[in-house]
Amino acid sequence: MNEYDSSRILDLLKKSDYEKTENSENVDCYLINTCHIREKATEKVFHDVGRIKKNYRNKKKPIVLIAGCVAQAEGEIILKNDKYIDAVIGPQSYQELPKIIKGIEEKRSRSNFTEFETIEKFDQLNLIKNSNTKISSFLTIQEGCDKFCKFCVVPYTRGPEYSRSFKELIEESKQLIQNGAKEITLLGQNVNAYNSSNKKLSDLIIQLENLKGLERIRYTTSHPNDMTDDLIDVHGTSKKLMPHLHLPLQSGSSKILKSMNRNHSIDHYLKIIQKLKKRKPNIKFSSDFIIAYPGETEEDFNDTLKVLKSVGFINTYSFVFSARPGTPADLLSLIEDNISKKRLQLFQEIAEKIKIDYRQTLIEKKVKVLFENRISENKYFGRDEYLNSVIVQSVNNLVGRNIEIKIKRCNHQTLFGDIIENPSEKNFAA
Ligand code: SAM
Ligand code: SF4
Repeated sequence: MNEYDSSRILDLLKKSDYEKTENSENVDCYLINTCHIREKATEKVFHDVGRIKKNYRNKKKPIVLIAGCVAQAEGEIILKNDKYIDAVIGPQSYQELPKIIKGIEEKRSRSNFTEFETIEKFDQLNLIKNSNTKISSFLTIQEGCDKFCKFCVVPYTRGPEYSRSFKELIEESKQLIQNGAKEITLLGQNVNAYNSSNKKLSDLIIQLENLKGLERIRYTTSHPNDMTDDLIDVHGTSKKLMPHLHLPLQSGSSKILKSMNRNHSIDHYLKIIQKLKKRKPNIKFSSDFIIAYPGETEEDFNDTLKVLKSVGFINTYSFVFSARPGTPADLLSLIEDNISKKRLQLFQEIAEKIKIDYRQTLIEKKVKVLFENRISENKYFGRDEYLNSVIVQSVNNLVGRNIEIKIKRCNHQTLFGDIIENPSEKNFAA
């Protein structure tokens, strides 16, 4: 979501005659877009600003802006602790940026913009063309969260749930396709809670399916409680929705899920998986896990390992519980560090083995890859339908092509393959 936000911020700043530069030694303005989901986020901001200060010691001071969820959550502390920072801007106040910059340019006034103005933000952004030209583009359709899992800062930093209108999303999708997008990933903190005038995520996918030029649709991140039957059905009927779903589980223990306020059990989660597999037999899953949540016993942890193995997630994101200030779980007693670390290590070893075993099954198989960019001379990067990274060498330009590739080898990050669709094309494995 920050990637989408950063790209829209750049569109906005054109209004103020600013543009992105790769030359960080000589800039007029720095904008740091931040994430607050786990600890050390604020320290990172001070560290980055420290580096800027050092680089600009003998030069004209650039305007320094801190945007995103760290600004939202800790804006006042940031402004108080570092006078070098000119403004903090929360994720719902980006539309104010041209005004903020003008104020700083004119009188170097410092400011804190951390109101929740989601509707105003998108009203303003809708007036500005989305100039993103990526083959695989993000599109934020929903923001915020009303679920209040006990460990999570999102409801406090991104505010309440808000869904953008159907019409503006179709317009922006058409714009992205016109710019060259062949794949659109619909984004939201709870993307499947999308509801605008009774139009749901399934309706949006069906509508996008009709857009000529669009070849792939994905959505992330979903909450299990919003995996409604209409959405599950679309996985069976849509030709463009990819057969991969990221569905965070957090823990394999219903007791821990309850104490996290996730409001569903393991059985409920596994039923969703079964339903999806029935509708789309080749679907595969990835997930997020929090290891060593306060109160997690050895038995609870073993339940997490059990579900990891039984679902066979092809990718997982796992972190030890990180206590976030202001959340209810911040008040709970932490599990000892050495136990947490051991559990995380064991979890990640098993998850990695599942991932590697799965990747090995792809060798000598055909996969469909949408190529996104050229990474070096005759070397192209793309993703298969399951979001696996694939690298192929080719003398022909593959950017934007969605073609069959035969996988020849893999490492834990990347698959390497040959083009097979058109034998006249000269190519070779990386
Ligand atoms: N809305 C999605 C859901 O409910 O599953 C997840 C969005 S959250 C921004 C992304 C992931 O960050 C979560 O799935 C969770 O695993 C992780 N996360 C959030 N807060 C955390 C915390 N306090 N400690 C460790 N991981 C955390
Ligand atoms: Fe955070 Fe997701 Fe829970 Fe909302 S549903 S509070 S975003 S983890």
